[in-house]
Amino acid sequence: MTTKFERPTIIRPPSEWKSYFLPLTSGCSNNTCTFCNYYRTRLRIRDLDDVKKEIDALASYTGTGIHLPGVSQIVYAVAQSWDGKRVFLQDGDALVYPFPRLSEALGYLNERFPALERIGSYATPQDILRRSHDELIELKKLKLSIFYMGVESGDDTVLQKVRKGVSGQELVEAGKKAKESGITLSVTVILGLGGIEGSEEHALQTAKVLTDIDPDYAGALTLTLVPGTPLYQEWEQGDFHPISPMRSLEELKLIIENSSFTDCFFSSMHASNYLSIRGVLPRDKERMLKQIEAVLAAGDPSLLRPEFLRGL
Ligand code: SF4
Repeated sequence: MTTKFERPTIIRPPSEWKSYFLPLTSGCSNNTCTFCNYYRTRLRIRDLDDVKKEIDALASYTGTGIHLPGVSQIVYAVAQSWDGKRVFLQDGDALVYPFPRLSEALGYLNERFPALERIGSYATPQDILRRSHDELIELKKLKLSIFYMGVESGDDTVLQKVRKGVSGQELVEAGKKAKESGITLSVTVILGLGGIEGSEEHALQTAKVLTDIDPDYAGALTLTLVPGTPLYQEWEQGDFHPISPMRSLEELKLIIENSSFTDCFFSSMHASNYLSIRGVLPRDKERMLKQIEAVLAAGDPSLLRPEFLRGL
């Protein structure tokens, strides 16, 4: 018996705010990470015909304003503010969608929307490593040209503890593989994931892995404990000791100080962070470090984003 595919809630990278959100899957294939709100979600693969039907509905609506029968109203709601340029494939790791079907879905999307500029997707390092170089090249030709990959930490101890399922070395291999295929790579790391005890090593090893990957974009997030996740339970039981907001700035500083990039847009603009900074590295390194140092030296909590304004 096949279960009906349920459209997932829209969870997207900030830069995809203008995109049309096309679900290929729901959940995440690597649902073991102890901090993540995808923890224990069940991966569901959407039927290809259903995906094509949505693409048809979108084409019909954007072309003539006509609503096709049997199509979720969400399609039209999202389409209303869509500029026709970018599509983001849902969900937690749409790259897990079986390759022949993924290639067909992208081909169909391109056929119906020849002016598309870019298609993006979350990708786990495991998904990227599973794909051959030629497959990635083919996806790039079909305009799947940006992957968002969660690095979280470069420290193997932390990666094991949070059950990420890959080592720092594998993260580097996956990141490099995406880049070698010409696919733009945007990665995220999580300040505070090592707790108080693992803080320094987490920051230093993360800087190392980021340097080795040399991504196009890197974003720092700050750990937010999500009720219902194992890490939240560990915290409740007193087994995980979160870092302070000021310590998260020290981690951010350590990461920027100790990493070296060719040309990377680095930011901590995500709503989970206590301090928002951004810049192109290496060009803006000094300015960004000075910004963090000034807040650390003042030690004034009012310079930080208040807890109630922090988001996931
Ligand atoms: S962190 Fe990424 S790989 Fe891990 S459960 Fe969440 S979405 Fe999946």
